[in-house]
Amino acid sequence: DIDNINSTYFENYEDLEIHKLMLKDSTRNNAYQKAILNNKNNILNKVVLDVGAGTGILSILCAQAGARKVYAVEASETYKIAKEIVKENGFENVIEVIHSRIEDLTDSEIPEKVDVIVSEWMGFYLLHEGMLDSVITARDRFLKSDGLIFPESAAIYASPCSIPSMYNDWNDISGVSMQSFAKLLRNEALKKPLTESLSPNDLLSEPEVVSWIDLREVTIEDLKEFSFQHVAVSTKTALYQGVCLWFTCTFPFSGFDEPVVLSTAPDEPGTHWKQTLIVLPESIKVEPGSPICYDLVMRRSESNSRRYIIEIAMLDPDEVEHPEFCSCFMTKC
Ligand code: SAH
Repeated sequence: DIDNINSTYFENYEDLEIHKLMLKDSTRNNAYQKAILNNKNNILNKVVLDVGAGTGILSILCAQAGARKVYAVEASETYKIAKEIVKENGFENVIEVIHSRIEDLTDSEIPEKVDVIVSEWMGFYLLHEGMLDSVITARDRFLKSDGLIFPESAAIYASPCSIPSMYNDWNDISGVSMQSFAKLLRNEALKKPLTESLSPNDLLSEPEVVSWIDLREVTIEDLKEFSFQHVAVSTKTALYQGVCLWFTCTFPFSGFDEPVVLSTAPDEPGTHWKQTLIVLPESIKVEPGSPICYDLVMRRSESNSRRYIIEIAMLDPDEVEHPEFCSCFMTKC
């Protein structure tokens, strides 16, 4: 039930290794740091709410940017570490660490509306863990109407791809062909998508945006299901073996420089999110111009709202409208 799912979820965040993984992800940290520093004008002397403070790093970045007050809310026992880190950095007078779920806060714990919400809620393929719900709850209850959310928007991308780790890598294991074994691996991968770094060379088409989420407006209801039908056009001769998913997050634009974007794309510096790969059971050969028609559905699991069920289905090329530059369109003409 929900209470069990939540207690397991928060217990997982009591493992130091998870925080180590995040704190060592400099792409992630640098994006938040740059976004916060670029927005000094919006943070100086302002009140900030850190949703899921963990070890407190984002709260401290906001305090360093001159926040007057930061509420660092953390549901797991990690709040104790956050308290230490706040002391270690000399911000006891600015940052108040609160041990609570965001959903359970009382009016006396946060007796005011805040100017800024900062949170690192993103999971694999963006939505895994379902923590965005808590950010939405916090926004609706505590954020001023003209307040800012870091990050402010997010997008999920998809592209058909080759997946060597599930196919070609098994052609020659010390001179032994292991394709039957690879097939078993792929059967397992049908149950659960892979979290793996893909080489950008293995993408077969231009990436497409599956979904764009505006954190200022999105509702929990909006997050129930995403469906995306697309005809991609292969840019190369290759084997189509699955769909690669990744996400970007964009931070508020301060009028200075460009808005900061945290990207988990295959052609960007790696992050601990890597990419998410949906593996097809069999390869399909494609040529430059070949249409790759797929229907991607991400549906929230009914038994566990912290999970999504991700499915891809092939679409019949004759049943869908093709982009004008794909090869079968030309043969039809
Ligand atoms: N902000 C930290 C930690 C991010 S991980 C950092 O950037 O390093 C997300 C954290 O949010 C975890 O520590 C988790 O326990 C906490 N969290 C998730 N949902 C929460 C909720 N509803 N209320 C309070 N804390 C929550």
